[in-house]
Amino acid sequence: MLLRSIGFLFTSLLLASSALAAECKTEGTFQAWLAGFKKEAIASGISREALSAAEPSLVFDQGTINADHQQGVFNQSFLQFSDRMISKYRLTTGQGLIKKNKALFDKIEAKFGVPAPVIVAFWALESDFGQVQGNFPVLKSLATLAYDCRRPDQFRKELMAALKLVQRGDLQPSEMIGSWAGELGPTQFVPTHYLDYGVDFDGDGRVDLPHSTADALATTANFLQHLGWQKGQPWLQNVKVPDELPWEQADLTVQLPRSQWAKWGVTDVGGKPLPSDDVKASLLLPMGRLGPAFLAYQNFQVYLQWNQSMVYSTTAAVLATRIAGAPAIARGNDTVTPLSLAQVKDLQQLLAKQGFAFGEIDGKLGSGTRAAVKAVQVKLGLPADGYPDAGLLSRLHGGA
Ligand code: CA
Repeated sequence: MLLRSIGFLFTSLLLASSALAAECKTEGTFQAWLAGFKKEAIASGISREALSAAEPSLVFDQGTINADHQQGVFNQSFLQFSDRMISKYRLTTGQGLIKKNKALFDKIEAKFGVPAPVIVAFWALESDFGQVQGNFPVLKSLATLAYDCRRPDQFRKELMAALKLVQRGDLQPSEMIGSWAGELGPTQFVPTHYLDYGVDFDGDGRVDLPHSTADALATTANFLQHLGWQKGQPWLQNVKVPDELPWEQADLTVQLPRSQWAKWGVTDVGGKPLPSDDVKASLLLPMGRLGPAFLAYQNFQVYLQWNQSMVYSTTAAVLATRIAGAPAIARGNDTVTPLSLAQVKDLQQLLAKQGFAFGEIDGKLGSGTRAAVKAVQVKLGLPADGYPDAGLLSRLHGGA
């Protein structure tokens, strides 16, 4: 990615495809690998002091490999996922924490331009407000994954960054407890992002994401600002769509002035007209034209960089609007029955056979599969909302 990863609760979203990737063979012993890594670390400026502090933790950990291998494929629909994630507990706790930390959030918004509900929604989703930060010794996990043949380059970089955190004095090796994929703190930062975007906001001289709420929340805001967050701008708005619309325009790659959406009959959820202005937005239909509908503003792109999964991003953005006071979302015009994992695989095979290119045949309704669905809908003259249903599947099988 775009590897702002996804956090302890969501690591599976990012890594699932790699876990299913072609099998590989790890060459050589861990000790031999470690000797080479240590040389490189010293050559790239890691002090001998930091390296020896970390050394007892640089051991192979079968538990990390097991956790990595056990990642399942994420196949929940937006409503299944968001219903589960946007709980009353998270809304009230999030709102309570904003009140309790008002001075801190005001200071963070003044400096980084990111409002409290946006930060708090990530805090909720990534770790349940810091309660679930993971219990893996991160150096051990990263060393193991850097040695393992599957994603050695990615995790070698992360391990090197983790050593730099030790050297910078942010964390002792024993304090580096996080997810099996090496993410740290209440908003689950990978070490490279910790190193680059970490902010010492409580002024104690070190960036301490696992233990300092001020550091963790300011770092989150700093990162979001770096990803392009625009101060004072909306991110997501639940809307109502009409029965007819040029559905192929409902695509995150298409941004149109709000006046155009208004002209096509998109309204707010209460049925009131949208402002007829030139604020740019995409029409986001995570479950197709019959499901819930959103205008995704420029700031929504920041969510997709935090986590490329549309289901996660939309959920995080909705949770932020709910914490900010928006009512429960309008669920759309009809009940949408999502395809099962096996059906999506079947669909992917059919699309591949017909020459619609996308990524792996993995049963995941990712952006590549949605784009291929849209293309085949256009070809067949169907409403091209990029969301497959049983009717499309049967049609591709040669049925009616
Ligand atoms: Ca600090």
